[in-house]
Amino acid sequence: MRGTAKKIIITLIIVIIWQRYLIKKKRKLDFCAEQNVEMDNLDNRSEESGNTQLEKETMCDFQEETIGKKCVICGCIINEDNESEEHIIHNAIGGVLKSKAIYCKKCNSEYGSDVDKAFCENFAQIIDGLDMNFDRKAGETSYEGVMCDKKGNLYKTRFKKGKVISMFDSSGKYTKWEKGKYERIPNNFKWDKKAFENGMVKIAFNFAVYSGIDIKYLNKVFDNQKKILFNNPVIIPFMPLTLFDSLMEEQDTYNLYHAMQLFNYKKKLYVYIELFSTFQVYVLLSDNYDGQIYKEYCQIINKNNCEKNRNEIMDALKIYDYKDADIIATQYRIDIKQVIEDLKEYHNYDGEDINITFSKIENIAYERKRKSSYIRNYLELLDERYNKINFEKISSEKDRDYKVKFFSEFQYYTDYEKNKVCTKTYKITIKENNVEYSYPELLQEKINENQDSFQKYRDCKIDMMIKHLQYKDN
Ligand SMILES: [Zn+2]
Repeated sequence: MRGTAKKIIITLIIVIIWQRYLIKKKRKLDFCAEQNVEMDNLDNRSEESGNTQLEKETMCDFQEETIGKKCVICGCIINEDNESEEHIIHNAIGGVLKSKAIYCKKCNSEYGSDVDKAFCENFAQIIDGLDMNFDRKAGETSYEGVMCDKKGNLYKTRFKKGKVISMFDSSGKYTKWEKGKYERIPNNFKWDKKAFENGMVKIAFNFAVYSGIDIKYLNKVFDNQKKILFNNPVIIPFMPLTLFDSLMEEQDTYNLYHAMQLFNYKKKLYVYIELFSTFQVYVLLSDNYDGQIYKEYCQIINKNNCEKNRNEIMDALKIYDYKDADIIATQYRIDIKQVIEDLKEYHNYDGEDINITFSKIENIAYERKRKSSYIRNYLELLDERYNKINFEKISSEKDRDYKVKFFSEFQYYTDYEKNKVCTKTYKITIKENNVEYSYPELLQEKINENQDSFQKYRDCKIDMMIKHLQYKDN
């Protein structure tokens, strides 16, 4: 009798979830018909229609409060004279989120630049294959790769900015590169594991401080006596432990992303970091955190329309008189008085020619617009993957246990009301036999048991990423 009741309940659950999926699918179809969505237009569309709204939501990311903040290293009060900008995710790999409230100028220039350089070198080959834009000179690191000729012979090659610097055949003989004779083999990643881990820890630390976590809690990454980041932090590489996660990770997205989730599970505080939609880790920040926190960040990496259409945007931002200046300054939260003071202090501006002030305001406005054009809602990324899952295939599975497992996970990781992925559980917790576990903790156990499956997963993710890279033929 109990067995039959259980079967009925399970069948009911499947039916309910299935209906829910059909409703979602119908909505999606209606939406597509309405909007006539084509994948290639997706990027343009979200930029054109969503710009004003996006700005409102994300401008605050670049307008943080620095007053009264102390440098985390030396403890000095940060003010206008000693402030300096720190990229939360390195500028050299396309990160646009910055903070002036972490390090003072002196500490920022002394602290961790070796770590940053070695970390970014790991990604040199990827950056080279992506159409990106940087604040400063970046992407100028040379890196090793492999060229292949028409006969299949391989050549050890050094590249810089997408161009071949040197090429050697298998016997070590120098070979001259010629157009059309050789083809690049992209997936030959030379990986400095230690540099990768150190860089990830710095990102995690920066994001936690940026999100307002007191450094006294960051006992798992930061030595508060010596004021340095630990050398052996707990870093757990991500691998999907559930069917739901596997299916989510299998779905490719239109853009590559950098994303972060800061969360606590009980007393443990973690940052989940995903770079280039591919390199995914958890960094353990604390095991004595008292509060409750959840913060997320998500951005695309590829150069977007804001950069491609710079001239048109600059035209729209053109300031002719004080009234225009006021409108632009209000819209982009620019302090005109501050702009004039900075011009006087750093550019010997005498205050005579007002057009200099106007043009400075235009440029600041464009920069703010450009930065926010990269920022995406994290749910947008998750939805893009979620909407691509082939539910029909799962429902037509003959294996009943598989279906039950998937649909119960589906229920656990999605928000019924909103019909979206639930960020309260996604990548944070996992439910097995009705017991809830911390996702990173369970993951660590599983990885210790089986290293091979992790390697296989990472290879798959790298293959997916490579499809996004387009190397220019010198
Ligand atoms: Zn300092």
